[in-house]
Amino acid sequence: MKYLIISDIHSNLEAFEAVIEDSASHKCDAILCLGDFVGYAANPNECVHRFLGLPNATAVLGNHDAAVLKPSERELFNPVAKAGVAYSEEQLDEEGAKFLRQLPFTRHPGDGFMVVHASPSRPESWIYVIEPLEAADAFHAMDEPLAFIGHTHFPAVYTATGTVRPFAGGEMVRLDSEIKCLINVGSVGQPRDGDARAAYVVYDADQGTVNIFRVEYDINTTVQKILDAGLPPMLADRLSRGY
Ligand code: ZN
Repeated sequence: MKYLIISDIHSNLEAFEAVIEDSASHKCDAILCLGDFVGYAANPNECVHRFLGLPNATAVLGNHDAAVLKPSERELFNPVAKAGVAYSEEQLDEEGAKFLRQLPFTRHPGDGFMVVHASPSRPESWIYVIEPLEAADAFHAMDEPLAFIGHTHFPAVYTATGTVRPFAGGEMVRLDSEIKCLINVGSVGQPRDGDARAAYVVYDADQGTVNIFRVEYDINTTVQKILDAGLPPMLADRLSRGY
């Protein structure tokens, strides 16, 4: 079984389309999205509906998805993130909102892994897994040897032996069933690791490997849409920097 694993689309339809097209060659059996369909860019409703049209696609809830559904979830957001959430709320149709509303915090698809937006440790608290300390809490909460996460928009590989490293485009991880592993799959729609290209991951459960890929997309169109929508210009500027 081969899984296409993506996260943090953030209303960026051009990046999402590029990932769908580029990943087709890997012939994955199922698609998992780790949340944050909405927020930041200009096409929240289009991204949700594009996802709903994909075969064998399931997802978990992200903090921006939750914030669109529930105002109290926005309280800790900065003004720029709040603007993106308010715009997404306005744009999302009833079917889109209904889809987000039924998303769980975690999924356990079998094949020895789980998926969650933030951390396997208290998923509803939206903890950022950055340092080995947060990863240690995450490992403690994991029943399976492997978890895929998003949320930071920074692709990285953590192991229960205490190692952390960035997961750069084109790299592969060979899994060891004896050592728990946590993999951040990066972001489709708003990368923050200095590489502006959209990120996606392929997990081959039979081979025990995880590959990360980066794909270029039409950033200029996404930037123009953000500006035309009256969203904060900073949301447009950061896309070409990948930060
Ligand atoms: Zn996000």
